[in-house]
Amino acid sequence: MNFTCTVCLYKKLPFYPADYEICPCCGTEFGNDDERVPHASLRAEWIARGADWFFRDPPEGWNPWLQLIEGGAAQEVPHFAVNFRMQFNTTVKPPEINWGTGPILNPV
Ligand SMILES: [Zn+2]
Repeated sequence: MNFTCTVCLYKKLPFYPADYEICPCCGTEFGNDDERVPHASLRAEWIARGADWFFRDPPEGWNPWLQLIEGGAAQEVPHFAVNFRMQFNTTVKPPEINWGTGPILNPV
């Protein structure tokens, strides 16, 4: 069973985001990093650092901006990334975006 990271919205966490588990995508240590800092703030910090994959190599075809869009946080994707990475990344199919919905916080 997979869980969604409450910070970076990575959908394939093999554990519930708690109990000092660390997201391999954004590096958040649940129960520590998010003890006093809201998830939205941690997400903004991760994006500001470049939204890089945290642990070893990212999954093939992984794209942080698509992950944010698919997770319902399209408005948090930096404008430069929309114009730059998606234009040149031909290995990833852009998702169908329903612009009619707001941010979706996946229930965990
Ligand atoms: Zn994460």
